[in-house]
Amino acid sequence: MTEQYWGIDLGGTKIEGVVLGATDAPNPLCRIRVATEAQQGYEHIVERIVGLVQAMRAETATEPKRVGIGTPGVLDPQNSTMKNSNTTCLIDRPLQHDLETALGIPVELANDANCFALAEARLGAGRGAKTTFGVILGTGVGGGVVVGQKALYGCQGIAGEWGHNLLDPEGPECYCGRRGCVETILSGPFLERFYAERAKQRRPLPEIAERRGQDPDADATIERLTTYFGRAIANVINILDPDVVVLGGGVSNIDLLYNEGVRETARHVFNNRLETRIVKNELGDSAGVFGAAMLVA
Ligand SMILES: [Zn+2]
Repeated sequence: MTEQYWGIDLGGTKIEGVVLGATDAPNPLCRIRVATEAQQGYEHIVERIVGLVQAMRAETATEPKRVGIGTPGVLDPQNSTMKNSNTTCLIDRPLQHDLETALGIPVELANDANCFALAEARLGAGRGAKTTFGVILGTGVGGGVVVGQKALYGCQGIAGEWGHNLLDPEGPECYCGRRGCVETILSGPFLERFYAERAKQRRPLPEIAERRGQDPDADATIERLTTYFGRAIANVINILDPDVVVLGGGVSNIDLLYNEGVRETARHVFNNRLETRIVKNELGDSAGVFGAAMLVA
């Protein structure tokens, strides 16, 4: 039998499982989605994952040797419990240990941004790159680093977390307790809030982008996006110098990022030219679960 790669993407609202038959082409042998029902608590989430693996066993008529799981938040390398998770019932829980006990097989755990980066590096827009920086620009802002086809975790499990780099000391308060983090400027909700405070009405970000040139508040919002995007991405490029930066999440659908955003980035990079490719993701919503499967590849 050929090798199989089992992956599960644990999200705040849904849990998705996939079985891949290869590491080069994303053609799932099985793909199943269930609701997380996170409001029912931590033990319930563990049961949901066990149930999902049983359903995947039944559908493929095979047994997994191990399974990769993408999670909101990350396993703290110091005490093996979860931290930095917006699904708050996971925090301080030994999720890897509990899943290995419940499933009876080894479990590889990584945060969802790392899974996104790993999937795009191996199967998507970063194919062939030595170093990929995967960026989530959506409701939240996160990131993951893949070097030589492997996700980089770091000493504290926070490698790639550019979303909480300081961008503006006078900026809005962040849920992390700091102020002016990248997330409080470049996330979709904060950009929409910036527009609403000026225009005195709410509009979704794609509509704000379309109103450019005819609405000064839209102009100001988009300029804020491209200017700060350039500064924030250039900070990462100066440290990591990746071959490619792959953008995902809702804000990555704003096309201006790939021309004006790239030009702004080039202005701040410590080089006389910008060779780093800054591109849109190729795998869309599938990146999280494919990346979870790649954790065991
Ligand atoms: Zn923050």
